[in-house]
Amino acid sequence: MTLKSFWGLDQKEIDLLQPKPRPTITEWAPDNLYLPRQESPEMPGYFNFDYSPYLRQPADDLCDHYTREVWIQAILQGSKSTLGNIWLAYIILVNPNHTMICMPDENTVKRRMKTRLQPLFKANPKLLEAIGGRVGNLNIGEPTVVDWMNLYIGWSHSPSIMSDVPVCNIIADEVALFIMGLAKDVSPIDLLRGRQKRFPENSKFLGLSSPKLAGDLFDKEFRQGLIHKYYLQCPVCERYFTDSPENFAEILIIKKDEHNEFFEPRAYENDRDGRLAWFICPLCHAKLNEPERAYATQKGIWVPDGCTINEHGKIIGQIPASTKKSYKITTFALHPKWQPLNKLASMFVYAQLSLKAGNRQPLQNFRNNHQGETWEIKEKITKPNLLKKRIEKYQAGFVPYIGNKKELFIHLTAIDCGYEQQPVLDFCRSTESPIIAVRGDPKLTNRSNRLVNEKNKGPIYHLNVNVIKDRVYRLFFESDKPGPSYAHVHADILTEYFEHLSAEDRQSFQKGGSYISEWKLKSEHLPNHLLDCTVYATEAAEISGLWSLPNVPGVQFLDCGIDVHIDHVWAVVIGWGYMAECWVIWEGRLETGDVKNLDQSSILHDFLRRPWPVWTGEQKTEVRRQQSEGRRQRTEGRGQSQYLVDDWNNRAKV
Ligand SMILES: [Zn+2]
Repeated sequence: MTLKSFWGLDQKEIDLLQPKPRPTITEWAPDNLYLPRQESPEMPGYFNFDYSPYLRQPADDLCDHYTREVWIQAILQGSKSTLGNIWLAYIILVNPNHTMICMPDENTVKRRMKTRLQPLFKANPKLLEAIGGRVGNLNIGEPTVVDWMNLYIGWSHSPSIMSDVPVCNIIADEVALFIMGLAKDVSPIDLLRGRQKRFPENSKFLGLSSPKLAGDLFDKEFRQGLIHKYYLQCPVCERYFTDSPENFAEILIIKKDEHNEFFEPRAYENDRDGRLAWFICPLCHAKLNEPERAYATQKGIWVPDGCTINEHGKIIGQIPASTKKSYKITTFALHPKWQPLNKLASMFVYAQLSLKAGNRQPLQNFRNNHQGETWEIKEKITKPNLLKKRIEKYQAGFVPYIGNKKELFIHLTAIDCGYEQQPVLDFCRSTESPIIAVRGDPKLTNRSNRLVNEKNKGPIYHLNVNVIKDRVYRLFFESDKPGPSYAHVHADILTEYFEHLSAEDRQSFQKGGSYISEWKLKSEHLPNHLLDCTVYATEAAEISGLWSLPNVPGVQFLDCGIDVHIDHVWAVVIGWGYMAECWVIWEGRLETGDVKNLDQSSILHDFLRRPWPVWTGEQKTEVRRQQSEGRRQRTEGRGQSQYLVDDWNNRAKV
């Protein structure tokens, strides 16, 4: 007996009763999901895969019975969070089951709720209806009841995420910023997976992030999946290519000036007609304009690890079976609308120029956020021997200055107040010399310093010593020829200076559960006072406006870094020139007496206001002889500190 004969139904009514095949996300989203302006600022409207074609395959994986986990590593504008939102809407409206959304921390959750989730529900009446008609019904922490399912929105280690509720679907967003478990070695991702045990048949996990460090939590998860790379089709030769940091410069061509130097980043940003930067196909070298680039991304194909793609777009090789799929969304996968050429070129040039000037951070950001690649921390290894080649002819206490002055004075001193705060602050008030109090602050993450005005104490610059030590490393160990960011060393340099500068290496380790990298002493109790002085002097230069110095040769100003101890201080005087080229002028120890009375120490007061004679290239064999004798004494015996003071007095008389 059929439905028709039993109930007398017509065909239309029968169709309504038959179980319908569930649409996949790619079938469903374009007609049913409206992206508000907050989600898609360039083009609010019904979701269109044409502008992010690379999302199709990962989206289909989320509906495929066989795939259990999808991991996306993407550049900033790579629409990865949009995929999370599309899937969430699909779960609620098409395939409901208990779902958890996990973000790195409470602030991120609150911000996302306001900027992404609430607008998404507001823009889609059916979604809003499912949560009872008010976006205010979306809870953070507490479960949100949505028709036939519960939705949990929280952050890693929040009670709702840590609780034992079973969930079928998990969206973990910005995983590279997740904090490792409080208990050692407990991965928050494994904790999340534990929630899915009740759904062994149909659970799904979507992990999303911009990449951070190679080897971190996200990177490890991503690499466990079958990694896919997006190959673009060149509209000219019709062959397929992909991008990586290695071939980046073969695809994005950036014009330089007649000296083979980059122009200012702004020049690239203002270049809207492709005169300073353009794309080419790395295979046929044809120049690709923006519509051609759009074509190349739309014709793109995901190729899994271990396979290649032939010129007809056919994947060659055995596709390995995997229930966990990883997709790497890199620079050129993006539609040009999201990634305008002029912006990309200007950011790339800015990163390169910063690196040249000793600051790696912009390149790391570019690698993570605009190339979609992890950043490999190369351990920075310091060795005293490497410093010897920097020794030059100018003598200790003399300034390689080119101009009409006979002597220079210290422009700014940075003195450490971390050891004995009050006496140092008193000293700062008592001296006529320009001086700032500084101290290390491990809480600073990106900036190199922060000025803190504490009540009754006066201003103290808090320093991010890791970032500044990276600069010092660049100056003394990494730069290899005189010019930007190169450190010169005078002829009478103390061997201690090289030893102190080499007392620390940058080391990577796990701390409080997360993976970090810091400068650390190679072994306990190694002296590093002159390194600290150099760090303070380097930041004093930064604060003095080092980067706006004109392009003239030689030292343009002097500064000084001071490390304070119980009855003496260490000091380093450095001369700075164009693009952070620098010259060590003097380094050593001053016997100031009890630190409690530092403000009465005439030695330090006098030291900071003494003139530093200009090196003319023919100074005083006499001074040099005295110095080398003193040097011998010092290395043979204990008279070091006395020598240094005498030596300074001698030099001061010249
Ligand atoms: Zn081509």
